[in-house]
Amino acid sequence: MNKVTEMFGSKVFNSATMKERLPKEAYKAVQRAIKDGKRLDAGIADIVANSIKDWAIENGATHFTHWFQPMTGVTAEKHDSFISPTEDGHIIMEFKGKELVQGEPDASSFPSGGLRATFEARGYTAWDPTSFAFIKGNTLCIPTAFCSYGGEALDKKTPLLRSMEAINKQALRILKLFGSDATSVKTTVGPEQEYFLVDREMFDKRPDLLYTGRTLFGAKSPKGQELDDHYFGTIKSRVAAFMEELNEELWKLGILAKTEHNEVAPAQHELAPIFTTTNIATDHNQLTMELMQRIAKKHGMVCLLHEKPFEGVNGSGKHNNWSLTTNDGANLLEPGETPHENAQFLTFLCAVIKAVDDYQDMLRISVASAGNDHRLGANEAPPAVVSMFLGDELTEILDSIANDESYDSKEKVQMKIGVHVLPRFPKDTTDRNRTSPFAFTGNKFEFRMLGSAASVSGANIVLNTAVAESLKQFADELEGKENFTEALHELIKKVINDHKRIIFNGNGYDDAWIAEAEKRGLLNLKTLPDCLPYYIAEKNEKLFSEHKVFSPSELGARYEIKLETYSKILNIEALTMVDMVNKDILPAISKYIKALSEGVVSTKAAVPSANCKYEESVISKLSALSGSIYDKCAALDNDIKNVPDTEDSLVIATYFKDTIISAMEDLRASVDEAEVITDRNYWPYPGYGELLFSVR
Ligand code: ADP
Ligand code: MG
Repeated sequence: MNKVTEMFGSKVFNSATMKERLPKEAYKAVQRAIKDGKRLDAGIADIVANSIKDWAIENGATHFTHWFQPMTGVTAEKHDSFISPTEDGHIIMEFKGKELVQGEPDASSFPSGGLRATFEARGYTAWDPTSFAFIKGNTLCIPTAFCSYGGEALDKKTPLLRSMEAINKQALRILKLFGSDATSVKTTVGPEQEYFLVDREMFDKRPDLLYTGRTLFGAKSPKGQELDDHYFGTIKSRVAAFMEELNEELWKLGILAKTEHNEVAPAQHELAPIFTTTNIATDHNQLTMELMQRIAKKHGMVCLLHEKPFEGVNGSGKHNNWSLTTNDGANLLEPGETPHENAQFLTFLCAVIKAVDDYQDMLRISVASAGNDHRLGANEAPPAVVSMFLGDELTEILDSIANDESYDSKEKVQMKIGVHVLPRFPKDTTDRNRTSPFAFTGNKFEFRMLGSAASVSGANIVLNTAVAESLKQFADELEGKENFTEALHELIKKVINDHKRIIFNGNGYDDAWIAEAEKRGLLNLKTLPDCLPYYIAEKNEKLFSEHKVFSPSELGARYEIKLETYSKILNIEALTMVDMVNKDILPAISKYIKALSEGVVSTKAAVPSANCKYEESVISKLSALSGSIYDKCAALDNDIKNVPDTEDSLVIATYFKDTIISAMEDLRASVDEAEVITDRNYWPYPGYGELLFSVR
């Protein structure tokens, strides 16, 4: 089977397969479950389970698992085989409805942020029928949500589904005001995924990559990304073979892998799928990351998903393209052809503007992680300040509405909602500012602050809920108004005036913008510990509980987990550095000094007047560096031992940010200096040049 059309979705129990294999009644029941989120009754569930099992076995599966997304950021699965003993000592392959619909993994080791202490120790998984079951290896995977027995979300899917329901409800209220008979609104996402590929042999020699996913030491190589010769360059044959296999595996899973190219940094690449419904896009992105790692290994490489594997070259992000679409396929962020359609477009546009301004803190938090802190604001990714790019033309139109002024297009008109048609702005003119964290790109928004390693769930939960809140306020204001168009015009005017501070069309990498943003009162939250206190601010608790996305205790749990994870990651990084210095780096330097010294002694014994300038100079430089590395390593080690003894995870995370990170940077500086003057045969690790340029 190599025809792409035949291959596509062949490992997915999708609607077409269901229609083919399920009895009519059962098929209808599943479709209803997908559409309305209703549970299947037990009888139907048994029929569906049996049919999925037969299909899975025909396709090579022997096991099944509830596949879920705990708050670790990776996916989890526990495999059970289909076998069931019979009385005569044989087995049959069995899969019951209740095994499909619900599972009870022993979940005590997943992070719960304290939620399970107050509730049951166990958790349960529940089938998300909107995301199709699929086969991975020999296992049938059933996408599920993961909750505590008290019903509190312990995963990344449950709140995402809730946020989609919240925005659906409020968007429908708005659409109704425009006379639409849409029955559902879903958010859509297309996540562009960046990653690095390095040679596996090189990777295996670096404990830092192995333990932390990034290089903790490493002097710059003579060549980096300065020539821009990698971006969109010819794909190397090993990488091409990897991409080919990756595409095939993704297609079999029904994942719409579409675009692939080399990125700016050497060894960096990107894959973009065609967008789909947010919760499916999220599942698919998790699977994509998993497959990238597995398939890279088969090709003798390792896929690095870390946000900043290498100092001095760009890190990796994930652009989250986002829009809203109705059940009949209308994109609500697509400017229309008539005054009526334009009014509706502007309403949704303004809902997003208001949401991004009101919840800039939450958007920043949604992309915060120890890894992503290295990127945001480092002149390679958007700054840590959240702002929006709308393009000059759209901004001018909004200004003209807000100020009752004429809009300066070919003919001067005063833009009036419900009366005027928006001028066509070609997509090209809206898509050129790559420095903006949140850009309108013609018919969707592109949220560009996400890190490459994280699930896209977090950012979309915030985005969906914040926009749901804007829409709710709009609907509350507009419903029952006699003159709808007039009321809408006034509302939009007010929203633009209240929130225009968030719009910035200039260069986001410019220092002047950071100063300007502060003047505008926008938040500049540089690191995870800086922004996390906002997570549990009253306004945010109110937002999430009103829209039934997170209860205050669920939010509190996530706050704890984010901080704890941050501290744990930095602790591992710091310990890894100490380990590398003591066991590899200092011994290597010492051996090299010894070799040089012995050389000098024997050279001078042979020829007393011999010039040993090079050797002597390196010996003295390296011995000085060795001394300072030793001291700095001891200081870091001491800092690790002195982590504040407190229950307050913010205090601990702040200590890691202020004390540990600077001790790590200090130590790294001396080690990198030593690397530059040490014989490559003595240095214990492959250097940046080898890591970045050895895949050919
Ligand atoms: P680029 O950003 O490289 O110019 P595109 O803008 O064409 O490329 O698309 C980038 C991503 O945006 C793709 O994953 C695409 O599927 C996705 N996308 C396009 N339209 C939408 C939409 N309405 N909703 C969500 N994502 C979308
Ligand atoms: Mg893009």
